[in-house]
Amino acid sequence: MSKFLRVKCACGNEQNIFGNAATVVKCLVCSATLATPTGSRVKLADGAKVIKVL
Ligand SMILES: [Zn+2]
Repeated sequence: MSKFLRVKCACGNEQNIFGNAATVVKCLVCSATLATPTGSRVKLADGAKVIKVL
């Protein structure tokens, strides 16, 4: 299962991240951590919200 998620950062930036990312995903605008890898699905950071599953 390899879905992309549209995530909104606390700064308002929206970006697409890979749901099974193997590395930490950071916001392209403010560099806040959006998601961290857990071995399967990523774990979203507190400030990040999923807008939709792509
Ligand atoms: Zn941000």
